Amino acid sequence: MDVIVIGGGITGVATAYQLRAAGHRVCVIERHATVAQGATYGHGGTILPTTLDVWFGPTFMQQRRAERSGVVSAYGFNAGARDFVKRIAKLREPNEFGHQFDALRPLIERSRDELAEIEARFGFEFEQRNGVLQLIRSQAEWDLARPAVDLLRVHEIPHHILTAAECSAHEHAVPADPPFASGVLLEHERVGNCPLFTKLLRQALDLQDGVQFLHGRAVTGIRVDPQRAAVELGPRDGEAANAREVDVMQADAIVVAAGAGSLALLDKVGVKLPFHPLRMHTLVAPIAHEECVPHSTVVDAVKRITITRMNHRLRIAGGAVLQPADQTGKPLPEKLTEEALALLGEAARDWIPGAAKISAALPWEGVTLLSPDGLPAVGTTSHKRLFVNVGHGPTGWGLACGSAKVVADLVTGDSPAVPEHTLKALQPGRFKR
Ligand SMILES: Cc1cc2nc3c(=O)[nH]c(=O)nc-3n(C[C@H](O)[C@H](O)[C@H](O)COP(=O)(O)OP(=O)(O)OC[C@H]3O[C@@H](n4cnc5c(N)ncnc54)[C@H](O)[C@@H]3O)c2cc1C
Repeated sequence: MDVIVIGGGITGVATAYQLRAAGHRVCVIERHATVAQGATYGHGGTILPTTLDVWFGPTFMQQRRAERSGVVSAYGFNAGARDFVKRIAKLREPNEFGHQFDALRPLIERSRDELAEIEARFGFEFEQRNGVLQLIRSQAEWDLARPAVDLLRVHEIPHHILTAAECSAHEHAVPADPPFASGVLLEHERVGNCPLFTKLLRQALDLQDGVQFLHGRAVTGIRVDPQRAAVELGPRDGEAANAREVDVMQADAIVVAAGAGSLALLDKVGVKLPFHPLRMHTLVAPIAHEECVPHSTVVDAVKRITITRMNHRLRIAGGAVLQPADQTGKPLPEKLTEEALALLGEAARDWIPGAAKISAALPWEGVTLLSPDGLPAVGTTSHKRLFVNVGHGPTGWGLACGSAKVVADLVTGDSPAVPEHTLKALQPGRFKR
């Protein structure tokens, strides 16, 4: 089949890889000049989520204040955003949380296998390392996090619960004073450089026949009917919008993997997903003192701020801002940017003092989609030639590789590589009920 993939982030590139592996001809359309320019560019380094990383559950947005929750709530009385927060808050209840994580787990494991296969096949070097240390500030935070920590055991995810002194002994960069409550060490969880991985995979695809990348063109519309599928392309750079007729590209199937840009495209063909855009930030800071740099990735577990060494820099990621959805396309007011970046600076100063030169750090921001039930939308839509692979949220790097395999199986007509209950929980149509 000829398949168009919209979006050249990790999700689109991984989907193209799996589709090609299944024997299809693929064209990836990306509006930027290269791949990995959206949320994929700003990732914090962790590859696959555990119960402590997902952006839902017992510790997520328990407090409205950003200095406690790590999320700047800038939605005021906006009804859509408030409704979204209410829905995701239901997953704080331990049983609801456990139920959703159960559904997600097979996708995580599928993703782990797909990544391992890609790595074994190509031998990519993308600054991959092992070791994540989740840090918890206070006893109150520990009490909140407890159901998520318990689920690590239930799901047999190898981990060690450490006292503050043990955290410092394991990771010299983390001072035991001022005191904090505890930590959870996940020695086998991996970190790496997501944009680098995405570019390497794209390069590998470039060497294969049957894969094409069309850059610098935005998809402006999707056309689907039972017999065919097509996309409408916007003008090339420098070309006036009304200079000529719309370019249309035909295919047998379309996969939407356009990150935050997916909602508008899908909306036009009647596929409505209640995902909410979340603006997130990174600071890429030069190393101040080499001897203060952590060996593991260090995560502020409740604020969900990740600190990872990348080459000669430290990447500090998180600083989420939740706004009304219609504000996401506009520049963020300076005050909110400062508030979000201050959260990142504080996390670095608290957890790894002396390691990062925050005053010389480069800020970046990007948008990722948060799901009201914590799970992405992966699968077919009411149009049989239209598939989606979106909404992986702030923990989407590794997941995207597994969900790419699921989508490729569905496009091909094979039985998907995850159990039925997971497939059902990922279905884009599940929100209609
Ligand atoms: C600051 C930050 C930190 C993060 N940290 C982590 C982490 O530590 N671990 C983790 O697993 N995940 C993390 N994430 C989330 C992860 O980066 C995302 O889940 C993942 O990158 C999403 O990939 P994607 O390809 O779906 O989206 P994107 O990377 O956003 O790619 C979508 C692409 O589609 C293109 N596009 C959109 N609309 C159109 C259109 N109409 N026509 C053509 N092209 C279009 C865009 O230009 C973009 O390149 C983080 C995200 C952010 C922002």
